[in-house]
Amino acid sequence: MEASACALFLIISWSVYSCLAESGFLSLDCGGIGNLTDSSTGITWTPDDKYIQGGYRKANNDQTLEFYHQSLRVFPKPLNKSCYHLPITPNVPFLLRLYFVGVRYTNLIPNFNYSIETQEFLSLRKATFQRNPPQRSEKILVSGGQVLYICLIRASEDVDPFISSIELRPLRQGMYNQVKSRSMLHMRARNSYGASKQISDLSNRNLTGSIPSTLGNMTALVKLSLDNNHLTGGLPDLSKLVILERLHLQNNDLSGDVPDWLSELPNLKELFIGNNNFSGVIPQKLQDLNLLELTYEGNNYLCVRKEECRLSSHSHGRRGKTVSVPVVVCPIAIAGIISLLGIIIYRKKFGRKEIANSGTQGTPTGNRESRYVPGQDNLIISVPSTPKSRSFSLEEMMTATKNFSSKIGQGGFGSVFLGELAEGKQIAVKILSFFSEQGIAQFLNEIELLSRAHHRNLVCLLGYCNASRDLMLVYEYMSGGSLNDHLYGRNKSKYPKLGWKSRLKIALHAAQGLEYLRTNCTPKIIHRDIKTANILLDANLTGKLADFGLSRVAADDVSHVITAVRGTAGYVDPKYFTTHVLTEKSDVYSFGVVLLEIICGRRPIDITLSEPQVDLVKWVMPLVKEDEDFMNIKELVDKSMDNNYNKDSVIYVAKLAMRCIESESIDRPSSSDVVMEIKGAMKYEI
Ligand code: ATP
Repeated sequence: MEASACALFLIISWSVYSCLAESGFLSLDCGGIGNLTDSSTGITWTPDDKYIQGGYRKANNDQTLEFYHQSLRVFPKPLNKSCYHLPITPNVPFLLRLYFVGVRYTNLIPNFNYSIETQEFLSLRKATFQRNPPQRSEKILVSGGQVLYICLIRASEDVDPFISSIELRPLRQGMYNQVKSRSMLHMRARNSYGASKQISDLSNRNLTGSIPSTLGNMTALVKLSLDNNHLTGGLPDLSKLVILERLHLQNNDLSGDVPDWLSELPNLKELFIGNNNFSGVIPQKLQDLNLLELTYEGNNYLCVRKEECRLSSHSHGRRGKTVSVPVVVCPIAIAGIISLLGIIIYRKKFGRKEIANSGTQGTPTGNRESRYVPGQDNLIISVPSTPKSRSFSLEEMMTATKNFSSKIGQGGFGSVFLGELAEGKQIAVKILSFFSEQGIAQFLNEIELLSRAHHRNLVCLLGYCNASRDLMLVYEYMSGGSLNDHLYGRNKSKYPKLGWKSRLKIALHAAQGLEYLRTNCTPKIIHRDIKTANILLDANLTGKLADFGLSRVAADDVSHVITAVRGTAGYVDPKYFTTHVLTEKSDVYSFGVVLLEIICGRRPIDITLSEPQVDLVKWVMPLVKEDEDFMNIKELVDKSMDNNYNKDSVIYVAKLAMRCIESESIDRPSSSDVVMEIKGAMKYEI
């Protein structure tokens, strides 16, 4: 009879497992060695090496973990970004679950980034860890493409990114229709209503005050975890929780006696009350229960025997060491060994059940509701799907740059390398080496804007490379360096002296680029970072505006954009700085600073100068007020021009510069006016 019941159970169980392990599931045991089937779910876990290049396998050395979390893949230096290439079915929504269980392998608290990428978007997320619980991420997404990229991204020198497991579960038709290909749903909460079994994990929530007695009404609770909070008071009566198997209350400030009713809970197997302020004797009945695990260390007034208790509290202050330690050690040691064995047996027996329960499959008996919300805590950026720019392969980039051998510049977000395309054109390749939300956003912004803005005075974006999932931008090579290199850069001596005529010509080119952004682009573009470092020169000293990472578009019928202040110190329009209202005239202000730079041949902010001269604008303003006709213009002009300039032309430009930096934007000229006026100044030079 018993044997047939057992056989029946096995048959039922097997059919349930077979249902759970549906076709199309991909379950990767990262760093795993061979295929292993989870007997509780029927799901087969496979090693990840077919889907990733690089990284090494590391054992977690923790037998209490699920078998597929007992190894992990670690991505050491010099790897900055390593991506899994996972096959997906186009237009079929799927659930993605990632686990990062690796805190025990290192003393460092891990801190790195990971991204989830499809052909439509890139979502960047920070993986920050507490000691417990392990970081887990669960999303629902859909893509028109056939590949999903999960990338592990280095965020610091010291910490190697890692991952423990990846699960892909295609969803049945009709499930989560709200998920769209350019967004992603993020698992915010999983609640169980009316289920025959419930798990409540409220650990690490910074909870304060006493434990709400209403928890005692959740009669279906099998596990209640309140570890690592700041809870105070004594325990409320939870005696109705008769199916409560596990109660975790460690690392709080709970006080009072350990209540008798705990020993009445018929199913209690695990009780963790360590590191609290409990006092008195642990009820004998509780001690007799033979719990699989009972931990109570770190409660200085709590004792196993009455005599020891009295002894310790009389002879020692609160939280002092108790003389009962040697007496308690023995039971603890024995309990420890039993517990260790117990926990292993227990985890093997019950641990997987929880994992299966906490999955989306649900339990046969409960109504489980998983709440997925649009991924607000992720940076999700849509990759432009049809940019006019060319898409380069990694191989093309490696060949063109001779394996990135010639570095020609370093920006805030990455290095710039010289290269040559097969057709002989020289290129500059900018690689995003530091993956930050801002960096990625600026890179993609630049692709988006420069793909549709083409003008002889804008640096041409030839294309981009995203094949390796490392972002690279490919520009025409500007062999003449930047305007600031010529004016006062570190390598100034490398370049021929820049005369006034050349300065005017370059200023005109930059102004024409600005005018184009304003008048010929639809929608209009506000550059937001006009400065001499972003005016690059070709071999013929043709000036071109570069670096559109911060640029913003403004619809034709609006005059401004309200946005956070970005830009470079010394160039930012004070009006924009105080109001966050960005207008075309904000670029004109920055351009006014550029004009002052070409006259004075100095940086807008130069802390090596004496206090009144540090800020170029603040230095020039009062001088001009006293000398409206610029009789003493010589005092301002860059000495390196050796008096070799037309004074009227310089005064003309100085007056224009002063109008550009007017405090009210309405008093500043438009970019078209600026172009006209520079042309006017050039007439003096003929
Ligand atoms: P940030 O982006 O932080 O404002 P940046 O504008 O100086 O700084 P990048 O645009 O990354 O940074 O450029 C770094 C350097 O690389 C430039 O100063 C320049 O010397 C060089 N460089 C960039 N683009 C080109 C190009 N198209 N041709 C030649 N050199 C270039």
